[in-house]
Amino acid sequence: MNSLEQFAAEKLSALERRALRRQLQVTSRARHPLVERGEKTLISFSCNDYLSLSVHPAVIEAAVEATRLYGVGAGASRLVTGNHPLYAALEARLAAAKGTEDSMVFGAGYLANSGIIPALIGQADAIFVDELAHACIWAGAKLSAAKTIIFRHNDMAHLAELLAVHRRDHERVMIATDTVFSMDGDLAPVAVLADLAEAHDAWLMTDDAHGLGVVPKPEGAGRVPLQMGTLSKAIGAYGGYICASENVVALLRNRARSFVYTTGLPPGTVAAAIAALDFIAANPGYAARPLALAGRFTAALGLPEATSPIVPLIVGGAAEALNISEQLQAAGFLVTAIRPPTVPEGTARLRFTFTAAHQEDDLDRLAATVKKLLTPRP
Ligand SMILES: *Cc1c(COP(=O)(O)O)cnc(C)c1O
Repeated sequence: MNSLEQFAAEKLSALERRALRRQLQVTSRARHPLVERGEKTLISFSCNDYLSLSVHPAVIEAAVEATRLYGVGAGASRLVTGNHPLYAALEARLAAAKGTEDSMVFGAGYLANSGIIPALIGQADAIFVDELAHACIWAGAKLSAAKTIIFRHNDMAHLAELLAVHRRDHERVMIATDTVFSMDGDLAPVAVLADLAEAHDAWLMTDDAHGLGVVPKPEGAGRVPLQMGTLSKAIGAYGGYICASENVVALLRNRARSFVYTTGLPPGTVAAAIAALDFIAANPGYAARPLALAGRFTAALGLPEATSPIVPLIVGGAAEALNISEQLQAAGFLVTAIRPPTVPEGTARLRFTFTAAHQEDDLDRLAATVKKLLTPRP
C-alpha cells in the first residue's frame, strides 16, 4: 500500500472504532416530509427545508422558467459576465427583509462566511466567536489570520470580560455568532451582543441560516451591521447572502474572494429563492408552523420549550446516539444522529427538525416512540 492509501485507511479505521465514521446514503426527498431510502419510506425529522419550499410547485416552476430564459449556469463570475438579471431582484428582496441598504448573494452560506470575514479583518485584528458557532464562521476566521478569541456559548458576561481585556490590542474587531444555533436550536441574545459591539467599537456579524423565514426576528436585529445567512434552509434553494450598508456591500463585492473568484449562482436557483421569499411573505401562518410544532414536541417530552424548529436531545456517546437513531428508523422516523466533530465531544445527540408539512399525529407518535426508547428497561 502506498502512503496515501495507508493514511486514508488508518484514518477511516480510527473513525470507525470511535463510531464516528459517516456514510452517504441515497435519499429521495421528492415527497417531503417523507423520504425514501432504499426500500424504506420514512418521515423525516432531519431536513432544514422547514417549509418544504424545495419541492413547492410554484418554486419549482420559477426555477424551470428562469432556466429556460437564462440557461442552466451563470457562465462566469458575476464581476465578469455572470451577473444575470435575477440577482438584482433577489438582493433587493433580501435587503428589504432585513431592513438594510443593500445585500449580496454568495454561492453558499459557507462561501459567504469564508469570504466576508477575511475581507473585513486581518492579521492585526481580532474576532470574538461563540464556541458553538457554525463551522464556516471558524473557517472565515482562520482564513482572515486575525486572532480568534472564543467566548462561552451565549455567555455575555464572558464576552464583555474578553472585550475589556483584548479590545485595545487590536485595530479592528468583529464579533460573530449564529442567531439560531444549528445543532442546539437556541437563540443568541442579539440585543446584548449589539450593546457590547457598540460599546467596544466591534463589528457584529450574525449568521441567521436557521432563522430567516421561520423564527421571528430577534430584538436588536436592526442594530446588527453584518447580517448573513443562507438560502438553503427555509428558503429551500441554495446560496448565501449578506445584508449590510451600501458601502460595506460594495467593499465585499470588490474584496470577498469567495465572491470575486467563483461563478455566480445558476439563474434557476436565484429565481427559486425569489419565489420562496414571495411565498413566505404571503403565508405567515404556514411559516409559523415549524416553531409551533417544535413547541408541541418539547412540551410532550418535558424538554425546555423550543425557541426554533431545531430540538436537540443530547445523549452523550456517539454509539448511543447512533443506536437510538437506528431504532427510530425502524419505527419509521428519520432522525439523524449528530456526532463530533459537528458537536463537542461527549454531546452526541439526536437533532429533530420540524417542518410545516409534519402532521400533529406523526409528531405525537414520534414523541411517544422517543419516550419509550429513553425509558430504561427494568
Ligand atoms: C447551514 C449553515 C451554514 C451554511 O450554509 P450553506 O448555504 O448550507 O453553505 C452557515 N451557517 C449556519 C449557522 C448554518 O447552519
